[in-house]
Amino acid sequence: MFMSLRITNTLRGEKEVFTPLTPGRVTMYVCGVTVYDHCHIGHARALLTFDVIFRYLRFLGYDCCFVRNFTDVDDKIIRRAADEGVSPAALAQHYIDEFHRDATALGLLPPTHEPRATGHISEMIALISRLLEAGHAYVVMGDVYFGVETFLEYGRLSGRSLDEMMAGARIEVDERKRHPMDFALWKSSKEGEPFWDSPWGRGRPGWHIECSAMSTKYLGQPFDIHGGGQDLIFPHNENEIAQSECATGTPFARYWIHNGFVQLAKEKMSKSLGNILTIKEILERVHPVVLRHYMLTTHYRNPVEFSEDGLSDAERAVTRIYETLERAEKALAASGGRAAASGAIDEFKQEMDDDFNTPRAFAVMFEELRAVNRMLDQQQTQGLDTRRNSLKTMLEVLGLLQLPAGDFLASKRQAGLQEQAISADDIERLIEERNRARAYKNWARADAIRDELKAYAVVLKDGSSGTTWEFEK
Ligand SMILES: [Zn+2]
Repeated sequence: MFMSLRITNTLRGEKEVFTPLTPGRVTMYVCGVTVYDHCHIGHARALLTFDVIFRYLRFLGYDCCFVRNFTDVDDKIIRRAADEGVSPAALAQHYIDEFHRDATALGLLPPTHEPRATGHISEMIALISRLLEAGHAYVVMGDVYFGVETFLEYGRLSGRSLDEMMAGARIEVDERKRHPMDFALWKSSKEGEPFWDSPWGRGRPGWHIECSAMSTKYLGQPFDIHGGGQDLIFPHNENEIAQSECATGTPFARYWIHNGFVQLAKEKMSKSLGNILTIKEILERVHPVVLRHYMLTTHYRNPVEFSEDGLSDAERAVTRIYETLERAEKALAASGGRAAASGAIDEFKQEMDDDFNTPRAFAVMFEELRAVNRMLDQQQTQGLDTRRNSLKTMLEVLGLLQLPAGDFLASKRQAGLQEQAISADDIERLIEERNRARAYKNWARADAIRDELKAYAVVLKDGSSGTTWEFEK
Protein backbone atom coordinates (compact mmCIF):
# COMPACT_ATOMS: atom_id res chain seq x y z
CA MET A 1 0.00 0.00 0.00
CA PHE A 2 1.45 3.34 -1.03
CA MET A 3 1.14 6.05 1.52
CA SER A 4 2.37 9.57 1.34
CA LEU A 5 3.92 11.64 4.08
CA ARG A 6 1.44 13.27 6.45
CA ILE A 7 2.45 15.99 8.87
CA THR A 8 0.57 17.48 11.83
CA ASN A 9 0.46 21.11 10.80
CA THR A 10 0.21 23.41 13.83
CA LEU A 11 -1.44 25.95 11.55
CA ARG A 12 -4.56 23.78 11.27
CA GLY A 13 -4.04 21.44 14.21
CA GLU A 14 -4.41 18.27 12.15
CA LYS A 15 -2.49 15.83 9.98
CA GLU A 16 -2.24 16.88 6.37
CA VAL A 17 -0.77 15.19 3.31
CA PHE A 18 2.56 16.84 2.63
CA THR A 19 2.93 18.23 -0.88
CA PRO A 20 6.00 20.37 -1.45
CA LEU A 21 5.66 23.56 -3.45
CA THR A 22 8.18 22.31 -6.03
CA PRO A 23 8.01 18.56 -6.80
CA GLY A 24 11.11 16.75 -5.57
CA ARG A 25 12.33 19.67 -3.50
CA VAL A 26 11.64 20.64 0.14
CA THR A 27 12.49 23.95 1.80
CA MET A 28 12.70 23.87 5.60
CA TYR A 29 13.55 26.51 8.20
CA VAL A 30 14.04 25.71 11.89
CA CYS A 31 14.55 28.33 14.61
CA GLY A 32 18.03 27.90 16.05
CA VAL A 33 19.51 28.85 19.38
CA THR A 34 20.37 32.13 21.06
CA VAL A 35 24.09 31.80 21.62
CA TYR A 36 24.67 33.04 25.19
CA ASP A 37 25.16 29.71 27.01
CA HIS A 38 25.68 25.97 26.52
CA CYS A 39 22.83 23.98 24.98
CA HIS A 40 20.72 21.77 27.27
CA ILE A 41 18.59 18.65 26.82
CA GLY A 42 15.62 20.68 25.55
CA HIS A 43 17.79 21.91 22.68
CA ALA A 44 19.05 18.36 22.11
CA ARG A 45 15.49 17.18 21.63
CA ALA A 46 14.65 19.86 19.05
CA LEU A 47 17.94 19.28 17.24
CA LEU A 48 17.42 15.50 17.09
CA THR A 49 13.77 15.88 16.03
CA PHE A 50 14.61 17.99 13.01
CA ASP A 51 17.73 15.96 12.23
CA VAL A 52 15.54 12.87 11.78
CA ILE A 53 12.96 14.83 9.76
CA PHE A 54 15.81 16.11 7.52
CA ARG A 55 17.21 12.56 7.20
CA TYR A 56 13.79 11.13 6.36
CA LEU A 57 13.01 13.76 3.72
CA ARG A 58 16.34 12.91 2.07
CA PHE A 59 15.55 9.18 2.35
CA LEU A 60 12.28 9.88 0.47
CA GLY A 61 14.42 11.30 -2.31
CA TYR A 62 13.75 14.99 -1.76
CA ASP A 63 16.40 17.57 -2.47
CA CYS A 64 16.00 19.28 0.91
CA CYS A 65 17.27 22.79 1.62
CA PHE A 66 17.46 23.08 5.42
CA VAL A 67 18.17 26.41 7.13
CA ARG A 68 18.81 26.76 10.88
CA ASN A 69 19.80 30.15 12.26
CA PHE A 70 21.87 31.52 15.13
CA THR A 71 20.45 34.41 17.16
CA ASP A 72 23.71 36.22 17.87
CA VAL A 73 22.41 39.61 19.04
CA ASP A 74 19.97 39.72 21.94
CA ASP A 75 19.47 41.13 25.46
CA LYS A 76 20.72 37.92 27.09
CA ILE A 77 23.91 37.94 25.02
CA ILE A 78 24.56 41.59 25.83
CA ARG A 79 23.98 41.03 29.57
CA ARG A 80 26.14 37.89 29.75
CA ALA A 81 28.95 39.53 27.75
CA ALA A 82 28.94 42.50 30.16
CA ASP A 83 29.10 40.09 33.14
CA GLU A 84 32.08 38.29 31.66
CA GLY A 85 33.84 41.41 30.41
CA VAL A 86 33.93 40.36 26.76
CA SER A 87 32.29 41.81 23.66
CA PRO A 88 28.84 40.42 22.70
CA ALA A 89 30.34 39.32 19.35
CA ALA A 90 33.12 37.35 21.07
CA LEU A 91 30.67 35.74 23.49
CA ALA A 92 28.34 34.75 20.63
CA GLN A 93 31.23 33.30 18.61
CA HIS A 94 32.35 31.27 21.62
CA TYR A 95 28.91 29.69 22.03
CA ILE A 96 28.53 29.13 18.27
CA ASP A 97 31.76 27.10 18.43
CA GLU A 98 30.40 25.21 21.46
CA PHE A 99 27.15 24.58 19.59
CA HIS A 100 29.07 23.09 16.66
CA ARG A 101 30.93 20.79 19.05
CA ASP A 102 27.59 19.59 20.50
CA ALA A 103 26.10 19.17 17.01
CA THR A 104 29.05 17.04 15.90
CA ALA A 105 28.90 14.96 19.08
CA LEU A 106 25.15 14.37 18.58
CA GLY A 107 25.82 13.23 15.01
CA LEU A 108 23.59 15.89 13.42
CA LEU A 109 23.71 16.31 9.67
CA PRO A 110 24.86 19.87 8.94
CA PRO A 111 22.06 22.12 7.61
CA THR A 112 22.35 23.58 4.12
CA HIS A 113 22.68 27.10 5.55
CA GLU A 114 23.40 28.35 9.09
CA PRO A 115 22.79 32.10 8.87
CA ARG A 116 23.54 34.47 11.75
CA ALA A 117 21.24 37.37 12.61
CA THR A 118 24.09 39.91 12.61
CA GLY A 119 24.94 38.94 9.04
CA HIS A 120 21.45 39.93 7.84
CA ILE A 121 20.79 43.37 9.34
CA SER A 122 20.26 45.03 5.93
CA GLU A 123 17.62 42.43 4.98
CA MET A 124 15.83 43.09 8.29
CA ILE A 125 15.96 46.87 7.76
CA ALA A 126 14.46 46.40 4.27
CA LEU A 127 11.65 44.27 5.70
CA ILE A 128 10.90 46.78 8.47
CA SER A 129 10.85 49.61 5.92
CA ARG A 130 8.26 47.74 3.85
CA LEU A 131 6.10 47.21 6.95
CA LEU A 132 6.28 50.95 7.73
CA GLU A 133 5.37 51.88 4.15
CA ALA A 134 2.39 49.53 4.20
CA GLY A 135 1.13 50.96 7.51
CA HIS A 136 1.73 47.82 9.59
CA ALA A 137 4.41 49.40 11.77
CA TYR A 138 5.14 52.73 13.50
CA VAL A 139 8.18 54.55 14.87
CA VAL A 140 8.38 55.81 18.47
CA MET A 141 11.60 57.63 19.40
CA GLY A 142 13.98 55.37 17.50
CA ASP A 143 12.04 52.15 18.20
CA VAL A 144 9.85 50.51 15.56
CA TYR A 145 6.80 48.48 16.57
CA PHE A 146 4.56 46.13 14.62
CA GLY A 147 0.87 46.99 15.06
CA VAL A 148 -0.88 43.67 15.65
CA GLU A 149 -4.32 45.14 14.98
CA THR A 150 -3.31 45.78 11.36
CA PHE A 151 -3.12 42.01 10.70
CA LEU A 152 -6.58 40.49 10.92
CA GLU A 153 -5.20 36.95 11.07
CA TYR A 154 -2.94 37.61 14.06
CA GLY A 155 -3.28 34.61 16.42
CA ARG A 156 -3.97 32.09 13.64
CA LEU A 157 -1.01 29.83 14.52
CA SER A 158 -1.55 29.78 18.29
CA GLY A 159 -5.33 29.68 17.84
CA ARG A 160 -5.95 32.62 20.15
CA SER A 161 -7.63 35.96 19.63
CA LEU A 162 -5.98 39.19 20.78
CA ASP A 163 -8.36 39.32 23.78
CA GLU A 164 -7.40 35.79 24.82
CA MET A 165 -3.71 36.63 24.51
CA MET A 166 -4.23 39.68 26.69
CA ALA A 167 -6.00 37.58 29.31
CA GLY A 168 -3.16 35.06 29.40
CA ALA A 169 -0.23 37.48 29.44
CA ARG A 170 1.34 39.69 32.02
CA ILE A 171 0.95 43.01 30.25
CA GLU A 172 3.37 45.77 31.06
CA VAL A 173 1.83 49.15 30.48
CA ASP A 174 3.79 50.88 27.76
CA GLU A 175 2.20 54.16 26.73
CA ARG A 176 4.25 54.30 23.58
CA LYS A 177 2.53 51.23 22.08
CA ARG A 178 -0.77 51.51 20.23
CA HIS A 179 -1.83 48.03 21.40
CA PRO A 180 -0.31 46.16 24.39
CA MET A 181 0.52 43.15 22.17
CA ASP A 182 2.46 45.23 19.61
CA PHE A 183 6.05 44.00 19.45
CA ALA A 184 9.42 45.56 18.63
CA LEU A 185 10.86 45.23 15.14
CA TRP A 186 13.77 47.56 15.90
CA LYS A 187 15.15 48.77 19.24
CA SER A 188 17.21 51.93 19.66
CA SER A 189 20.51 51.06 21.30
CA LYS A 190 21.42 52.14 24.80
CA GLU A 191 24.88 53.37 25.74
CA GLY A 192 27.51 50.66 25.35
CA GLU A 193 25.26 48.24 23.43
CA PRO A 194 26.07 46.95 19.95
CA PHE A 195 24.30 48.95 17.24
CA TRP A 196 23.74 49.29 13.52
CA ASP A 197 22.75 52.45 11.62
CA SER A 198 19.18 52.51 10.36
CA PRO A 199 16.68 55.05 8.97
CA TRP A 200 15.34 55.29 12.58
CA GLY A 201 18.70 55.89 14.21
CA ARG A 202 21.27 53.59 15.77
CA GLY A 203 19.85 50.36 17.11
CA ARG A 204 19.46 46.63 16.73
CA PRO A 205 16.72 44.31 15.49
CA GLY A 206 14.01 42.79 17.67
CA TRP A 207 14.20 39.01 17.91
CA HIS A 208 11.32 37.95 15.64
CA ILE A 209 12.28 39.89 12.51
CA GLU A 210 15.49 37.91 11.95
CA CYS A 211 13.66 34.64 11.24
CA SER A 212 11.32 36.37 8.76
CA ALA A 213 14.30 37.91 6.97
CA MET A 214 16.61 34.88 6.95
CA SER A 215 14.06 32.17 6.11
CA THR A 216 12.75 33.92 3.00
CA LYS A 217 16.21 35.07 1.89
CA TYR A 218 17.37 31.44 1.58
CA LEU A 219 14.08 29.67 0.86
CA GLY A 220 11.79 32.19 -0.83
CA GLN A 221 8.20 32.94 0.21
CA PRO A 222 6.21 30.85 0.73
CA PHE A 223 8.44 27.96 1.72
CA ASP A 224 7.45 24.43 2.76
CA ILE A 225 8.25 23.66 6.41
CA HIS A 226 8.89 25.87 9.43
CA GLY A 227 9.91 24.11 12.61
CA GLY A 228 10.75 24.82 16.22
CA GLY A 229 9.97 23.92 19.82
CA GLN A 230 6.40 24.32 21.10
CA ASP A 231 7.54 27.23 23.26
CA LEU A 232 8.16 29.23 20.08
CA ILE A 233 4.59 29.09 18.74
CA PHE A 234 3.65 32.23 20.63
CA PRO A 235 4.78 34.90 20.30
CA HIS A 236 7.84 34.17 18.14
CA ASN A 237 6.40 32.13 15.24
CA GLU A 238 3.09 34.03 15.37
CA ASN A 239 5.03 37.26 14.92
CA GLU A 240 7.10 35.85 12.06
CA ILE A 241 3.88 35.12 10.16
CA ALA A 242 2.51 38.61 10.84
CA GLN A 243 5.69 40.36 9.69
CA SER A 244 6.27 38.29 6.56
CA GLU A 245 2.69 38.14 5.32
CA CYS A 246 2.08 41.86 5.92
CA ALA A 247 5.32 42.83 4.17
CA THR A 248 4.69 40.81 1.01
CA GLY A 249 0.99 39.94 0.88
CA THR A 250 1.91 36.27 0.29
CA PRO A 251 1.64 33.30 2.66
CA PHE A 252 4.78 32.64 4.75
CA ALA A 253 5.37 28.96 5.68
CA ARG A 254 3.04 26.15 4.54
CA TYR A 255 3.56 23.45 7.21
CA TRP A 256 4.43 24.25 10.83
CA ILE A 257 6.06 21.49 12.91
CA HIS A 258 6.59 21.90 16.66
CA ASN A 259 8.33 19.46 18.99
CA GLY A 260 7.30 18.87 22.62
CA PHE A 261 9.13 19.71 25.83
CA VAL A 262 11.57 17.70 27.91
CA GLN A 263 10.42 17.29 31.49
CA LEU A 264 12.61 16.08 34.30
CA ALA A 265 11.04 13.07 35.98
CA LYS A 266 12.28 14.23 39.37
CA GLU A 267 10.93 11.41 41.44
CA LYS A 268 12.74 8.89 39.28
CA MET A 269 15.94 10.81 39.03
CA SER A 270 19.00 10.27 41.17
CA LYS A 271 20.92 13.25 42.51
CA SER A 272 23.69 12.77 39.99
CA LEU A 273 21.44 13.00 36.96
CA GLY A 274 19.23 15.68 38.46
CA ASN A 275 22.00 18.22 38.01
CA ILE A 276 22.82 17.18 34.48
CA LEU A 277 21.21 19.43 32.00
CA THR A 278 23.66 20.48 29.31
CA ILE A 279 24.30 18.32 26.27
CA LYS A 280 27.99 18.11 27.19
CA GLU A 281 27.24 16.83 30.69
CA ILE A 282 24.81 14.19 29.44
CA LEU A 283 27.27 13.01 26.80
CA GLU A 284 29.86 12.46 29.52
CA ARG A 285 27.43 9.92 30.96
CA VAL A 286 25.92 8.27 27.92
CA HIS A 287 26.95 7.67 24.33
CA PRO A 288 25.30 10.09 21.83
CA VAL A 289 23.48 7.25 20.07
CA VAL A 290 21.96 6.27 23.44
CA LEU A 291 20.64 9.80 23.97
CA ARG A 292 19.32 9.79 20.38
CA HIS A 293 17.55 6.46 20.87
CA TYR A 294 16.08 7.73 24.12
CA MET A 295 14.72 10.95 22.60
CA LEU A 296 13.36 9.34 19.44
CA THR A 297 11.38 6.58 21.12
CA THR A 298 8.86 9.25 22.15
CA HIS A 299 6.83 10.88 19.35
CA TYR A 300 8.23 14.34 18.66
CA ARG A 301 4.98 16.08 19.58
CA ASN A 302 4.70 14.43 23.02
CA PRO A 303 6.61 15.46 26.13
CA VAL A 304 9.70 13.44 27.06
CA GLU A 305 10.02 12.48 30.73
CA PHE A 306 13.76 12.56 31.21
CA SER A 307 14.80 9.84 33.64
CA GLU A 308 17.81 7.73 34.53
CA ASP A 309 15.79 4.52 34.02
CA GLY A 310 14.91 5.63 30.54
CA LEU A 311 18.56 6.21 29.70
CA SER A 312 19.50 2.75 31.02
CA ASP A 313 16.78 1.16 28.88
CA ALA A 314 18.10 3.05 25.85
CA GLU A 315 21.63 1.91 26.62
CA ARG A 316 20.51 -1.73 26.68
CA ALA A 317 18.53 -1.33 23.46
CA VAL A 318 21.44 0.28 21.62
CA THR A 319 23.78 -2.45 22.86
CA ARG A 320 21.42 -5.06 21.43
CA ILE A 321 21.29 -3.24 18.11
CA TYR A 322 25.07 -3.12 17.76
CA GLU A 323 25.61 -6.66 19.04
CA THR A 324 23.16 -7.96 16.44
CA LEU A 325 24.80 -5.93 13.68
CA GLU A 326 28.22 -7.22 14.68
CA ARG A 327 27.00 -10.83 14.68
CA ALA A 328 25.29 -10.37 11.31
CA GLU A 329 28.39 -8.76 9.76
CA LYS A 330 30.53 -11.66 10.96
CA ALA A 331 28.08 -14.26 9.66
CA LEU A 332 27.86 -12.46 6.31
CA ALA A 333 31.56 -11.68 5.97
CA ALA A 334 31.94 -14.31 3.27
CA SER A 335 28.98 -13.15 1.16
CA GLY A 336 29.12 -9.99 -0.93
CA GLY A 337 26.16 -8.31 0.78
CA ARG A 338 24.80 -6.89 -2.47
CA ALA A 339 21.23 -8.02 -1.80
CA ALA A 340 18.16 -5.79 -1.83
CA ALA A 341 16.40 -4.69 1.36
CA SER A 342 13.67 -6.80 2.95
CA GLY A 343 9.99 -5.84 3.16
CA ALA A 344 10.44 -4.30 6.60
CA ILE A 345 11.52 -1.09 4.88
CA ASP A 346 7.98 -0.58 3.56
CA GLU A 347 6.52 -0.96 7.07
CA PHE A 348 9.14 1.41 8.43
CA LYS A 349 8.24 3.94 5.74
CA GLN A 350 4.54 3.65 6.55
CA GLU A 351 5.22 4.54 10.18
CA MET A 352 7.53 7.41 9.33
CA ASP A 353 5.03 8.68 6.74
CA ASP A 354 2.52 8.97 9.58
CA ASP A 355 3.82 12.27 10.99
CA PHE A 356 7.37 10.93 11.52
CA ASN A 357 6.21 8.31 14.02
CA THR A 358 9.66 7.30 15.29
CA PRO A 359 8.42 5.15 18.25
CA ARG A 360 6.53 2.90 15.84
CA ALA A 361 9.40 3.01 13.33
CA PHE A 362 11.68 1.80 16.14
CA ALA A 363 9.24 -1.05 16.81
CA VAL A 364 9.50 -2.13 13.16
CA MET A 365 13.28 -1.95 13.39
CA PHE A 366 13.33 -4.09 16.56
CA GLU A 367 11.01 -6.63 14.93
CA GLU A 368 13.58 -6.99 12.15
CA LEU A 369 16.36 -7.13 14.74
CA ARG A 370 14.63 -10.07 16.46
CA ALA A 371 14.23 -11.84 13.10
CA VAL A 372 17.95 -11.37 12.38
CA ASN A 373 18.85 -12.74 15.82
CA ARG A 374 16.62 -15.79 15.31
CA MET A 375 18.30 -16.50 11.98
CA LEU A 376 21.75 -16.12 13.53
CA ASP A 377 20.79 -18.47 16.39
CA GLN A 378 19.59 -21.05 13.88
CA GLN A 379 22.69 -20.53 11.70
CA GLN A 380 20.39 -19.62 8.83
CA THR A 381 22.00 -17.32 6.27
CA GLN A 382 19.44 -17.54 3.45
CA GLY A 383 17.88 -14.06 3.27
CA LEU A 384 19.98 -12.77 6.16
CA ASP A 385 21.65 -10.16 3.94
CA THR A 386 18.35 -8.55 2.88
CA ARG A 387 17.26 -8.24 6.50
CA ARG A 388 20.66 -6.88 7.53
CA ASN A 389 20.38 -4.28 4.73
CA SER A 390 16.92 -3.19 5.90
CA LEU A 391 18.17 -2.90 9.43
CA LYS A 392 21.06 -0.70 8.37
CA THR A 393 18.83 1.51 6.21
CA MET A 394 16.38 2.04 9.08
CA LEU A 395 19.19 2.80 11.51
CA GLU A 396 20.72 5.22 9.04
CA VAL A 397 17.45 7.18 8.70
CA LEU A 398 17.11 7.30 12.49
CA GLY A 399 20.71 8.51 12.68
CA LEU A 400 21.89 5.56 14.76
CA LEU A 401 24.48 4.31 12.32
CA GLN A 402 27.13 6.92 12.85
CA LEU A 403 29.76 4.49 13.97
CA PRO A 404 30.54 0.90 13.13
CA ALA A 405 28.95 -1.62 15.48
CA GLY A 406 32.39 -2.59 16.74
CA ASP A 407 33.24 0.95 17.93
CA PHE A 408 30.26 1.25 20.24
CA LEU A 409 30.82 -2.19 21.71
CA ALA A 410 34.56 -1.56 22.02
CA SER A 411 33.97 1.65 23.94
CA LYS A 412 31.51 -0.15 26.21
CA ARG A 413 34.01 -2.95 26.77
CA GLN A 414 36.78 -0.46 27.42
CA ALA A 415 34.65 1.15 30.13
CA GLY A 416 34.04 -2.32 31.58
CA LEU A 417 37.74 -3.22 31.50
CA GLN A 418 38.62 -0.18 33.55
CA GLU A 419 36.42 -1.49 36.33
CA GLN A 420 37.58 -5.11 35.97
CA ALA A 421 41.16 -6.20 36.46
CA ILE A 422 41.36 -8.13 33.19
CA SER A 423 42.45 -7.00 29.74
CA ALA A 424 40.67 -7.68 26.46
CA ASP A 425 43.76 -9.58 25.29
CA ASP A 426 43.54 -11.87 28.34
CA ILE A 427 39.89 -12.49 27.66
CA GLU A 428 40.50 -13.29 23.98
CA ARG A 429 43.39 -15.59 24.95
CA LEU A 430 41.21 -17.49 27.41
CA ILE A 431 38.41 -17.78 24.84
CA GLU A 432 40.86 -19.29 22.34
CA GLU A 433 42.10 -21.72 24.95
CA ARG A 434 38.53 -22.69 25.77
CA ASN A 435 37.76 -23.21 22.05
CA ARG A 436 40.75 -25.56 21.78
CA ALA A 437 39.59 -27.44 24.87
CA ARG A 438 36.14 -27.78 23.36
CA ALA A 439 37.57 -28.98 20.06
CA TYR A 440 39.29 -31.79 22.02
CA LYS A 441 36.06 -32.37 23.96
CA ASN A 442 37.85 -31.44 27.18
CA TRP A 443 34.62 -30.11 28.74
CA ALA A 444 36.06 -29.83 32.26
CA ARG A 445 38.77 -27.42 31.09
CA ALA A 446 36.31 -25.48 28.92
CA ASP A 447 33.94 -25.04 31.88
CA ALA A 448 36.78 -24.04 34.16
CA ILE A 449 37.76 -21.24 31.77
CA ARG A 450 34.17 -20.08 31.53
CA ASP A 451 34.03 -19.95 35.36
CA GLU A 452 37.34 -18.13 35.53
CA LEU A 453 36.03 -15.45 33.17
CA LYS A 454 32.77 -15.27 35.09
CA ALA A 455 34.77 -14.32 38.15
CA TYR A 456 35.79 -11.21 36.20
CA ALA A 457 32.11 -10.61 35.29
CA VAL A 458 32.78 -11.64 31.68
CA VAL A 459 29.90 -13.50 30.05
CA LEU A 460 30.51 -15.68 27.00
CA LYS A 461 28.05 -16.20 24.16
CA ASP A 462 28.60 -19.09 21.80
CA GLY A 463 27.07 -18.54 18.35
CA SER A 464 27.35 -19.74 14.80
CA SER A 465 30.06 -17.20 14.06
CA GLY A 466 32.17 -18.02 17.11
CA THR A 467 32.29 -16.90 20.71
CA THR A 468 31.64 -13.30 21.73
CA TRP A 469 31.87 -11.79 25.18
CA GLU A 470 30.47 -8.94 27.23
CA PHE A 471 30.51 -7.76 30.80
CA GLU A 472 27.65 -8.76 33.05
CA LYS A 473 24.97 -6.08 33.18
ZN1 LIG B 1 12.91 31.89 14.83
